[in-house]
Amino acid sequence: MIPYAVDYVRATSVAHALAALASDPDARLLAGGHSLIPLMKLRLTGVSRLVDIGALPELRGIEIHPDHIAIGAATTHAELGSHAGLAEHLPLIALAAGVIADPTVRNRGTLGGSLVHADPSADWPAVMLALDARMEVTGSAGVRVVPADAFFVGLMASVVQQDELLTRIVIPLPGPDRVAYRKFRHPASGYAVAAAAVALRYAGNRCTGGMIGVTGVAETAFRAYAAEAELERGFTGSAEEILRIVEAAFADVTPLEDGFADGAYRTQLAKVMLGRALADAARLS
Ligand SMILES: Cc1cc2nc3c(=O)[nH]c(=O)nc-3n(C[C@H](O)[C@H](O)[C@H](O)COP(=O)(O)OP(=O)(O)OC[C@H]3O[C@@H](n4cnc5c(N)ncnc54)[C@H](O)[C@@H]3O)c2cc1C
Repeated sequence: MIPYAVDYVRATSVAHALAALASDPDARLLAGGHSLIPLMKLRLTGVSRLVDIGALPELRGIEIHPDHIAIGAATTHAELGSHAGLAEHLPLIALAAGVIADPTVRNRGTLGGSLVHADPSADWPAVMLALDARMEVTGSAGVRVVPADAFFVGLMASVVQQDELLTRIVIPLPGPDRVAYRKFRHPASGYAVAAAAVALRYAGNRCTGGMIGVTGVAETAFRAYAAEAELERGFTGSAEEILRIVEAAFADVTPLEDGFADGAYRTQLAKVMLGRALADAARLS
């Protein structure tokens, strides 16, 4: 790597970060640095100024309220994976945090950085889709709230603009009754070749529906709405139902292709991951 000079600003507040972004169109926010710095090392992104928000207290932490949980965007994967209150109310988060990369990445990488970076193989997008999260995006005009299913707009692209910050992620409570996360890891990077997050609602022992987030398979993570419609018809966890649901999930999906997985293989992996996640969730009490 041959480094090049960049301006570095350690933001002292959200307002300070916004001002530092606004004064340079090539300024970028730096959170954990585990996606941005590799891109810079490969010269895949032209950055003239780094605005470091990693240590901003107003962007960190987890608040539990009666009807929602609010997570600061710069909260790390490790913090999310080890928080007792989150584990109690939204155990899907700890399930996913535990399978992101390795401890080094989990200790530095942040939820907000992962969501804005919008890597098609990242884990958090699927989880936030399945939990129906709301993203709070702050700019000079104030805060706009974007639902998870409108947040990812293309390959490595979210709705967050260069002069905006993702500040909080808000997840409604009560959370789903039964959850599961299944991921087929790329053997080298650990990213998802295909992964599925399943969040089911129950009335007593009867499944009344649920939400399904999928990542790794297409240009963006997505809610599998067609599969959710199948869930509404009734779900006891039988093999026949699972087959019906996974076929619906990927019927209209154009899969990504790369040297590791062509489209047909990736789609098959995704079906297997979703089928296993549905079976896991149905078995949990
Ligand atoms: C070896 C390795 C393995 C990995 N494996 C996995 C894996 O298995 N699963 C997985 O999901 N991820 C994986 N990652 C990615 C990792 O989770 C990153 O930490 C994460 O994607 C980005 O978070 P970050 O805080 O490091 O963001 P940064 O790299 O600091 O920033 C990423 C992008 O988001 C922008 N940004 C950051 N925070 C904000 C904000 N609050 N508002 C607006 N824009 C913001 C930045 O400007 C930049 O464009 C891996 C990374 C590495 C290096």
